Amino acid sequence: MVEIGGLQKTTLIDFPGRIAATVFLIGCNFRCPWCYSSELVLPEKIKKQPRISEKEFFDFLKERKGLLEGVCLTGGEPTLNKDLASFINKIKKLGYLVKLDTNGSNPEMLKKLINDKLINYIAMDIKVPKEKYSKAVGAKIDTKKIEESIKILKEGKVDYEFRSTIVPSIHKKEDVIKVAEWIRGAKKYYLQNFRPEKTIDPQFEKIKPYSKDFLLEIKKEIAKFFGICEVRE
Ligand code: SF4
Repeated sequence: MVEIGGLQKTTLIDFPGRIAATVFLIGCNFRCPWCYSSELVLPEKIKKQPRISEKEFFDFLKERKGLLEGVCLTGGEPTLNKDLASFINKIKKLGYLVKLDTNGSNPEMLKKLINDKLINYIAMDIKVPKEKYSKAVGAKIDTKKIEESIKILKEGKVDYEFRSTIVPSIHKKEDVIKVAEWIRGAKKYYLQNFRPEKTIDPQFEKIKPYSKDFLLEIKKEIAKFFGICEVRE
C-alpha cells in the first residue's frame, strides 16, 4: 500500500507531451528548505494531511480511461514506498503511461522499475553540486547513490530528464555550471525557476527568484553539454 496525500486530476505540463493526472505520495528523506510540499515531507504536517485511498484513486483512473494518457508520480519521494512497483503495475494494467519524479536517492528502485518496464519517463532532481548535497538538502545524503541514479538514467533505457530548481541563496552561477559538468552528456537538462511559496523553511518565502534572463545566461553557457537544455518558469 502507498500513502496518497493528493491528486491533481489533470495536468498538461507535468508529463511531457501527455495529458496526465499527478498523484502525490507521502514521505521524503530530504528536507530541502525551498521545498513547496511540506505537507508531504514534515512528519507533523503529514499527520494532518488528508489521505486519498487507493480505491478512490483507482476508481478515478478507471473513470478517466480514454481521457487521460498518463499518471505522474510525485511527492515527497515516491521511491521510499516499498510497494511502489505493485502500485505502478496496477496503474499500467489500466493502460496508462507512468512518469516518476525522484530525488535520485534510491537507484535500486529505479533499476527495478526500469528493468520491469514499469516506467515511461523519469524526471530526476539534481539539487546542487555533489560536494554541497547534504548541507543544501538538510539531510545526510550518500551522493554515491545520486551518482548511481544519474548513471542509470544516462544509459537511456527509459526517457528521462534532469532538472534543478535554481534558488538564489543556494545557487550561484558557478554552482549550476558545476552541476551541468557533473551530468554532462545527458539527454535533457532543465533549469527551473524557484517560486517563494509555502517553503519548508519560511525564510525562503522572502527570497526573490532570479530573473529569467539570468537563467537564460547560464543556459547559454551549459547548453553544449546536453541534447536539450531549457529554462522552465
Ligand atoms: S523538494 Fe523534493 S526532495 Fe526536497 S524535500 Fe521537497 S519533496 Fe523532498
